[in-house]
Amino acid sequence: MTDPLASDPRQIVIVGGGITGLTAAFRLIDSLSETGVAATITVIERDDRLGGKFFTIRREGFIIEAGPEGFVAAAPEGYELCADLGLADQLQSPKRVHGGSSILFKGKLRPITQGVTDILPLRPGALVAEGILSPSGALRAMLEPFLPPRKDGSEESLGAFLRRRFGDEAWWNVLEPLLGGIAGGEGDTLSAPAAAPGLVAFERQFGSVSVGARKQKARLEELGKADATLVAPREGMDVIITRLVARLSDAPHVTLRTGVAVEEIARTPRGFDVVTRGPAGFERLSADVVVVTAPAFEAAERLRQLDAPLAEALAGVRFRSMATFSFAFRAEDAPKILAGTGYVKHSRERGAVNSMTWDSIRWEGHAPEGYALLRAFLSDDQVVEHSSDDELIAFGLEEIRNVLRISADPIFVAGRRWSPALPRYTLGHLERVAAAERRAAAIPGLVLAGTSYNGRGVVDAIRSGTEAAKAAAALAAAGGPGVVV
Ligand SMILES: Cc1cc2nc3c(=O)[nH]c(=O)nc-3n(C[C@H](O)[C@H](O)[C@H](O)COP(=O)(O)OP(=O)(O)OC[C@H]3O[C@@H](n4cnc5c(N)ncnc54)[C@H](O)[C@@H]3O)c2cc1C
Repeated sequence: MTDPLASDPRQIVIVGGGITGLTAAFRLIDSLSETGVAATITVIERDDRLGGKFFTIRREGFIIEAGPEGFVAAAPEGYELCADLGLADQLQSPKRVHGGSSILFKGKLRPITQGVTDILPLRPGALVAEGILSPSGALRAMLEPFLPPRKDGSEESLGAFLRRRFGDEAWWNVLEPLLGGIAGGEGDTLSAPAAAPGLVAFERQFGSVSVGARKQKARLEELGKADATLVAPREGMDVIITRLVARLSDAPHVTLRTGVAVEEIARTPRGFDVVTRGPAGFERLSADVVVVTAPAFEAAERLRQLDAPLAEALAGVRFRSMATFSFAFRAEDAPKILAGTGYVKHSRERGAVNSMTWDSIRWEGHAPEGYALLRAFLSDDQVVEHSSDDELIAFGLEEIRNVLRISADPIFVAGRRWSPALPRYTLGHLERVAAAERRAAAIPGLVLAGTSYNGRGVVDAIRSGTEAAKAAAALAAAGGPGVVV
């Protein structure tokens, strides 16, 4: 049988080997066979390892996540990918633990699970009992379902949106700390429709954010997923990467190249020249289709010569740094953590750590019997960028000593900084993405994918990678305008 690629194979180059790029390559295998197009797929990754932000450390029987710890259970994309990789029966959710999560407020850890369903003050009475909301603050939050929805479609900041719906006190004392992972003290500069599209859609669809949240909860209960907010493979998140890499390594016409950076993407009459730099020096690869999954600021630099206005729009997407360090203790040295699952912090609390989770309690199998694993998140840009790793670890230890009153030394500390870590969907984000879409449409064969544009979590990356594969297969078959997915 003759090799169909021998005639005139299309060449598809994917820039970046994180979950978006690897999913795109994996899904392309099927998308290409559906469209009947013969093509080679080359994934180019700058680091020496594949996986991007997926970073699982295995040490002395512990499983430590320094990147994502799981993916959102409510969305189908993560489940579907894991099922196709043979991982469906290996998924687990964090354990439901008595005490749940807390807010550190006025120097005290105050449980919030009784008062908050997901991120919303649906039962403010319990928050009053914990001293988190005053009776008038709780009353204001309870008025939310009765407030008229905002009709004009202009962009609002995340802080302004949630204060309008739930009041100032609920925002500062509950929602802002809980949304710290995405808001990070910047609620008034983030775009509500870009950073929290689900909450904005609840107001639009149901006239109320809490009514929408209740309906979503009921739907998840029907699906039997109400308890599972997050899911992850038992052996750690990098198992997803290992499986993807194994499948791609077995596939004919797929090449995975690590330790090679894309320096420039230039236009040619047929498609693109992708200029790379690796141990062998500079190389030039021809491509009919290029899928760029590197973060927007990086994509901007590599595409600047090709289309300066596109680069300008991409460079406008802001990022922030963060660090996460996990501390392993003997369980008897960490008795305080035996209640609950961790805490987030009110913005007025002192210390560089923004939140902590007890991973030995939340995740089955992440610590050996008799040991505790505590993960500290530092998400203040200035702190992370101006501190050494040793200083960041010292901030974590200080938090553990001051708040948890654990004086023993940890057995070990493991983790890392990410600089930059996550995109910030600031005011104007949707307009910047629309501008990038308009420019990309004039560049046949270009696909921009990843979490810089339409969603920042693992399931968004998987969705984007899947859509990039469909777009790339269609472009390889018939050509057509560039897209942002
Ligand atoms: C600490 C932390 C915790 C998180 N926790 C969660 C969580 O629990 N749940 C969740 O859903 N999400 C979480 N996230 C977000 C999630 O990890 C990301 O959304 C996702 O991993 C992004 O994948 P990606 O492939 O789009 O990007 P990346 O993982 O950033 O991959 C992009 C790749 O492109 C490569 N690259 C860049 N420039 C070039 C170039 N010029 N040439 C070649 N290669 C290049 C990079 O080296 C990188 O490997 C977390 C993120 C962090 C940092």
